Amino acid sequence: MACSQVFNWTSDADSSLSEENSPKSKKPRRRCEWSVLRQFENKKEAEAYLKEEGQWIYHCKYSTEEGVTMKYNCRSSSACSAKRRLILKAVSSIVELHATIEQHDHALKKQKGISQNMKDEIVKLLERGITKPKMILTELRKINETNPTTTQLKNFLAYYRSQIHPPIVSLGALQALAENHSQIPSTLDQPFVVHSMFNYEDKSFGILVSTLRLLTITQMTRLIHTDATYKLNWEGFPVLVVRVSDKNRTFHPTAIAVTVGETSTNAWIKQQGTFRARLPMGEFISFMLSQTKDWSEQRDPIHENHKTFAKVPIISLRLETDAFNWNKSKPSTRYKTPEDELNIRHYFVAASGQPPLKEDDVKKYLRMNTNKSWRTFDSYLASTTRLWMVKFHTNQMWTNSTCGLIPHVLVPFT
Ligand SMILES: [Zn+2]
Repeated sequence: MACSQVFNWTSDADSSLSEENSPKSKKPRRRCEWSVLRQFENKKEAEAYLKEEGQWIYHCKYSTEEGVTMKYNCRSSSACSAKRRLILKAVSSIVELHATIEQHDHALKKQKGISQNMKDEIVKLLERGITKPKMILTELRKINETNPTTTQLKNFLAYYRSQIHPPIVSLGALQALAENHSQIPSTLDQPFVVHSMFNYEDKSFGILVSTLRLLTITQMTRLIHTDATYKLNWEGFPVLVVRVSDKNRTFHPTAIAVTVGETSTNAWIKQQGTFRARLPMGEFISFMLSQTKDWSEQRDPIHENHKTFAKVPIISLRLETDAFNWNKSKPSTRYKTPEDELNIRHYFVAASGQPPLKEDDVKKYLRMNTNKSWRTFDSYLASTTRLWMVKFHTNQMWTNSTCGLIPHVLVPFT
């Protein structure tokens, strides 16, 4: 017996169902019987041998007194009885390869989860930009007869993404990630974290991502639009998209921010039970970076269908005709020439549906909007909807004229 090449092993730690270690699993654990197949000089050789066989897929590893055990499942199905394991001996560099006594039976076993081949196909689709479960299933149906269920697919996608983008488990990890991307890049379209703030006291944070090109565009206007509705959110965190509009009233997205105030963090903690729950925030930062990069590149003049930021309005014939007709209708207007602003005349125009302007209306408008002396929202509304104020540049720069309120809000005049 001493010369026997084959030793039989059983081990408590091993189970063909070790994948389902969760307490929920009520399936009985089945012990595997192992025999030593061969020995290797080192881990590298052993792994190369298994790879060469092409039938095994790494599953997990754990340590025992004897050494480290690395387990491999059958590539066709983790439910298959055939398995391999490597024992990395604690006392030497020798690595033993063990095999289950049981042979492959994966053809008989009902496939548990998604097969490796299927997983490879899904990953290929993800890499092609097909990321929505419904779309993935549609694509898979074109190539396979049997396909994963929606739940199986969603579980796999969640697992795969957590591997690609390690989840952020703490505010500190999120801050480290933000700081990793906060260096000002040397190229115009390289996205970076323009600003971030972290408050550990109240667990609030904010991260803003943009590119140098998009920031330059932002500087060309005096008005910024943001949208922080909860329709746009990531894991319940409000996402802000910063946009500016050019002189042709075309929107240009220029930055994305994700921000969490105290209240929403608290609500979120309540909802999740604990802040230690894993946030897929790392994935979102990647999204912010790639999205701003796209926006930026689309505004590069050498881009095939590049989007120009109009610095002067296009005056269409239609607009000129409308202006001519409007002027012919002798609208109720008044004007003032400010003493300190050369070449600028302030025109006041009664809003549509409002009676002709009196000198008092203009005075009241200027007084209220300069001193910001509204007492109620109704009086604010009344003061801002009574008339329009046009700051008209009387020189060559007339296209720089603006129309709107003073001095807190200005909208481009076209
Ligand atoms: Zn098998």
